[in-house]
Amino acid sequence: MSTPSPPVWTVALPVPLPRRFDYRPPDGEEAGVDAIGCRVRVPFGRRELVGLVVGSGAPELAPDAIKPVIARLDETPLLRGELLESLHWLARYLHAPLGEVLATALPTLLRHGEPVPDTRAFGWRLTATGREARWRPGRPQRLAARLGADTVAETELDAWMDGWRDAARTLAGRELAERVEVDASDTAPLPLPGPELHDEQQAAVDAVLEVRDRFATLLLDGVTGSGKTEVYLAAIADCLARGRQALVLVPEIGLTPQTLARFRARLGVPVHVLHSGLSDGERARTWAACARGEARVIVGTRSAVFLPLPQAGLVVVDEEHDGSYKQLDGLRYHARDFALVRAKALGVPVVLGSATPSLESLHNAQLGRYAHLRLSHRAGAARTPRVRVLDIRKRALHAGLSNELLDAIDATLQAEGQALVFKNRRGYAPVLLCHDCGWTADCARCSTPERGSPMTVHAHGRRLQCHHCGVRRPAPPACPDCGGLALQPQGAGTERIEELLTERFPEVPVLRIDRGTTQRRDALEHHLAKFGDAPGVLVGTQMLAKGHDLPNLTLVAVVGIDEGLFSADFRAPEKLAQLLIQVAGRAGRARRPGEVVLQTHHPGHPLLHVLLEGGYPAFAQAELVQREAAGFPPFARLALLRAEAQRIEHADAFLRVASGLLDGFDVQRFGPLPAPLPRRAGYQRLQLLVSAADRPALHAALAFAVPALYDAPEARRVRWSLDVDPVDL
Ligand code: ADP
Ligand code: ZN
Ligand code: ZN
Repeated sequence: MSTPSPPVWTVALPVPLPRRFDYRPPDGEEAGVDAIGCRVRVPFGRRELVGLVVGSGAPELAPDAIKPVIARLDETPLLRGELLESLHWLARYLHAPLGEVLATALPTLLRHGEPVPDTRAFGWRLTATGREARWRPGRPQRLAARLGADTVAETELDAWMDGWRDAARTLAGRELAERVEVDASDTAPLPLPGPELHDEQQAAVDAVLEVRDRFATLLLDGVTGSGKTEVYLAAIADCLARGRQALVLVPEIGLTPQTLARFRARLGVPVHVLHSGLSDGERARTWAACARGEARVIVGTRSAVFLPLPQAGLVVVDEEHDGSYKQLDGLRYHARDFALVRAKALGVPVVLGSATPSLESLHNAQLGRYAHLRLSHRAGAARTPRVRVLDIRKRALHAGLSNELLDAIDATLQAEGQALVFKNRRGYAPVLLCHDCGWTADCARCSTPERGSPMTVHAHGRRLQCHHCGVRRPAPPACPDCGGLALQPQGAGTERIEELLTERFPEVPVLRIDRGTTQRRDALEHHLAKFGDAPGVLVGTQMLAKGHDLPNLTLVAVVGIDEGLFSADFRAPEKLAQLLIQVAGRAGRARRPGEVVLQTHHPGHPLLHVLLEGGYPAFAQAELVQREAAGFPPFARLALLRAEAQRIEHADAFLRVASGLLDGFDVQRFGPLPAPLPRRAGYQRLQLLVSAADRPALHAALAFAVPALYDAPEARRVRWSLDVDPVDL
């Protein structure tokens, strides 16, 4: 009988392989379970990697084939309890390697094996010499004046003046000032009282407090400006009073300095932030402060859903419908959905807030899974703007703008108002549209009498293809309805529009706001502040749909919506409706009544009709009926398998293998079909859509097929990825 081999550690490594790896502990250490959740540095091929110990037990390989770890990096587990379990769940749900999930969840520095950073708070004060000193004008003198007789926290100095650290170093070098540790909770201002809550707000707060000791999901469905944030603040205050932590997720463009200032002013505790603009060091410090329970309120974007919350009391997801909660590359998780999983494991309530809730959330509310809380009117004096639909069939267009629209802008400027030209641009695969009559090329097999299913344009406009069934046909040389020759794929960019407006209205400022002009987080605020209240025109995309209030904005013109009306993506109508409501909300905050103009080739389109007549709730209801009839989420579960290769045969072969692996499972397969962007950077891109009636059916199929895909020889010639619950088809 051979002696049993001593136990080894099972380590999850950030490599794209669906398995874990065994390592021996360093000499003199036992491979006990106490190391689970600790990081280790290990040899891997010719590299060294940092991984996480996720188990211990008997080795799979012969003991001498097992290498020892190079070093154990944590004395006590870095990941444990609820967070570690939720991440295990996420790896299973996304069918992704656990090591990659864990690596995504950790801030970069920790992922690379750095120690958990110090989170003590520091401040500065003048020394006795410093208080006596006489000063010459300059930065050190300004800092000394700011300090006076007090100790001022570094966080406050950060907010006060750029470059104060250089001045502080100068003072410290001359022993005029010194750095001292401060109690973080002393550094926040006293909380300011909020407005008295109106009845609907109070009812919503009561509903949250009623379930504060357990998991429950509450959908806070409230029009823009109805006071949702006040509801969050009241619920967070209660959470803080009970000694618990609150996590608030906000969309990428929602985390403005104003939002933060409002939270800071009202809660009376330091508010920690996490967003893409922070340095690696700052991100690691926020993570550590959460893990130690020092961070009481955390406001963050998508990745904040991975923060440890040992004393969690409440999770809020603001603008829960927002597309930025879904990560579109790497680990394709959805932060709102994962927030629900975590809240359930933590046993705390989640508030999902939105003026335009996702159809998934509305559906869950209708099924009674979520409490549905409504705020039906605006808190302030703002009113609902008038909406006018401009028919632009056969009209002359300048950079996509009609003469009527330019006249409306002119009239607005004459009346000393501001206009916003909003260009819907989501990189939809282009559809073919007749400018004379509005005809679009639909797939005969996939269209229903109620809704056409548009084909997308390929091969520089020469070919049409349906993204649902794959049917192809040549693009017609003339419009089959009116015989017109004005068939064109849609779209003019914001730069062209800006150019035209600058030419047309030389006497007023024209400001373009998009990713190109506002790289930095505070740039948007900065630009808008400079723009001020004087007559002028703003041009922009999604970024302008919310945030900063513009009291003098009286005209909002929306162009380029036809692509959204006729996109092959089944979510396009929902996204378009949400966007139209959000943009229209911009005009309603003006001091004077606002107007919204929608420019379209399809003035009679049912989506516009329902939205204008019945608002978002009516639209959502109608759209849910369509989704059910078509078998789309939330009435089905989807996964999208993408593959790209330099040669299309390779991508095709891989997806056919995948499709074959799904034989015999209770799923439908569509494809392989070209991706919405069929060619990118020299790669040919195909996709296979997998649909099932429910989650168990989908996951049973994927759990079988995905591990086999890693081993398939066809996989070596492609780059592939799996997207569970895809948002862009
Ligand atoms: P939302 O988050 O729904 O867009 P906010 O909470 O930001 O709405 O509120 C919109 C505006 O109305 C803010 O300026 C806020 O201070 C104000 N407000 C909210 N609730 C009340 C209230 N109960 N009484 C007075 N003003 C309020
Ligand atoms: Zn036509
Ligand atoms: Zn079709």
